[in-house]
Amino acid sequence: MRKIAVLTSGGDAPGMNAAIRAAVRTALYNGLEVVGVRRGFAGLIEGDFFLMETGSVSDIMQKGGTFLLSARCDEFLEPEGRKKAAEQLRKHSIEGLIVIGGDGSLRGAESLYREQGIPYISVPGTIDNDLPGTDYTIGFDTAMNTILEAINKIRDTATSHERTFIIETMGRSSGFLTVMAGLASGADAVLIPEKKAEIEDVCQTLMERQKQGRLHNIILVAEGYEGNFRTNRDLNESNAFAIGKEIASRTGQDTRVIILGHLQRGGSPTAMDRILASKLGARAVELLMEGKTSRMVGLKGNAIQDSSVEDILKKKKEIDLDIYKLNKILSI
Ligand code: ADP
Repeated sequence: MRKIAVLTSGGDAPGMNAAIRAAVRTALYNGLEVVGVRRGFAGLIEGDFFLMETGSVSDIMQKGGTFLLSARCDEFLEPEGRKKAAEQLRKHSIEGLIVIGGDGSLRGAESLYREQGIPYISVPGTIDNDLPGTDYTIGFDTAMNTILEAINKIRDTATSHERTFIIETMGRSSGFLTVMAGLASGADAVLIPEKKAEIEDVCQTLMERQKQGRLHNIILVAEGYEGNFRTNRDLNESNAFAIGKEIASRTGQDTRVIILGHLQRGGSPTAMDRILASKLGARAVELLMEGKTSRMVGLKGNAIQDSSVEDILKKKKEIDLDIYKLNKILSI
């Protein structure tokens, strides 16, 4: 392998820059040429490439987002789009790809390999931490810390005004971020997609707390949570608002709703994310050089390991229900 390319794809995550830096510098250290691709798979199709040197990745590690830019690319969902991407890679004599992104990006890279034979190694970059094959994805730790900072501030006003705050966190299909942030913030209740009908439970807890004179509450809701609503829900608005109304109507408490939204995706990456990204980015290049393909690098226990992308895509990462239970015990 003489020349490789690096791209970031799908939802951005803090720490992606550190992963790019590690991949680029490991490649250069080993005498490879390395090309940056702008805007993920869209840039592959367009041939939006530039040759990188060690200085190309200076001063990016501390920045959130991805300096290579990211995009969602519908054309890449079709074999024709992937054929164009492979042609661009061949035209530029690029022999392998490092793909930093979430499960969609893994699917894209895997299809490109199967149809066009372009070897790749993927690096898990998503705040959702919803990929099997790694204990943590790049961006998760920073996102959790961002959520905690927000909750700390919300708590101040929740306490002063004796209000119940419903805080929506990211996670369309996984409650991982929400459960972990719940434990770290001491949230009074956590609602996640993996656990369905819970609103009654939450309301009961709130009523009990009310009897004890505890009138401020922090409830975390993953955006993918679907509860059992008594009140009519407006399907165009976030579930969090419906939950707020539902809780207010069932308990009579003064509720406020906050959607943390894209705030959670930004910010300077934490030390944990920078270290993880540096290790994974470097390992990904080594694997490509060893002639491997279709593997995702990840952290298991305290060791960097790699697993088959095919296997990863077949599984769903289970959240740790012990943590969910611990949340409940600690919030009584
Ligand atoms: P993430 O990587 O964060 O999960 P997406 O799910 O949006 O983000 O995926 C990023 C891109 O990967 C998509 O815009 C598309 O170009 C490509 N992609 C996603 N799923 C597939 C698939 N099944 N086949 C081919 N390409 C895919």
